[in-house]
Amino acid sequence: MLSSIKDRSVIVTGASKGIGKGIARVFAAKGAKVLVVARNEQDGGRTVDEIKAAGGGASFCQGDVRSWDDMQNVAATAAERHGGVDILCSNAGIFPSAKLEAMTPDDWDEVLGTNLKGSFLALKACLPHMKKRGKGRVILTSSITGPITGYPGWSHYGASKAGQLGFIRTAAIELAPLNITVNAVMPGNIATEGLDGLGEDYLRKMTDSIPMKKLGTVEDIAHAALFFASDEAAYVTGQTLVIDGGQILPESLMALEEM
Ligand code: NAP
Repeated sequence: MLSSIKDRSVIVTGASKGIGKGIARVFAAKGAKVLVVARNEQDGGRTVDEIKAAGGGASFCQGDVRSWDDMQNVAATAAERHGGVDILCSNAGIFPSAKLEAMTPDDWDEVLGTNLKGSFLALKACLPHMKKRGKGRVILTSSITGPITGYPGWSHYGASKAGQLGFIRTAAIELAPLNITVNAVMPGNIATEGLDGLGEDYLRKMTDSIPMKKLGTVEDIAHAALFFASDEAAYVTGQTLVIDGGQILPESLMALEEM
């Protein structure tokens, strides 16, 4: 069993829905004080209400990860409400689909600006607060799509998710002397509001292509993030963990058909 993260100050970006909401719920259930960050106040408020109803500690702070001002405000708010910043879960992300011929330069900037630059801005804003603490944990939500696999329509998304891994490797070196670790979870296909938006046909075919024959849960990802945030993972930095029910393992469709 991992040691307690009780009373740790945790920021989760993109915590109003999906994986971020799952991370917020699991960390709060373990006693952490969670700052729920998203753009939509109503959705964020619902997450906070659910966490409080389950006996956890959480509050909402509106923030757009594309905005440097917003990320500075988010970090300052966590410090003010919780006495500092211990853990950043940089999770906010979008995955609109556009094949290359249809993709506009604005589409590209939107995805890279949210998924990749957003992670940089959130980490940079938390840095002075973690430095003050003398330690810190940063956990990015990357993906298998980009670093390991490809999928038509998601070249910009894949670039952003692979970019996150390039980012953590140098960030981990730079921040190691400050006792701040930087790691990433790499989900496969996880049942979330965002994934639901891709439609029933996508979900059914994707489920069929996963050796475990089911989508992951947001808790599957939250528990991996919890490991990177734990005291036991103090010596782990610049690393990744794939959580995908074996999705990346088959070398061809034939490998699945053999089952
Ligand atoms: P989701 O259900 O669509 O939730 C996305 C969350 O991010 C929402 O809370 C949304 O709230 C927030 N968000 C989006 N843009 C934002 C911005 N500019 N500033 C602040 N918050 C923003 O998505 P999800 O499926 O949980 O995905 C979460 C993360 O996991 C993403 O980074 C995604 O790439 C990654 N991931 C997901 C899967 C999967 O299968 N679901 C697989 C691999 C990786 P607002 O819209 O209110 O801001």
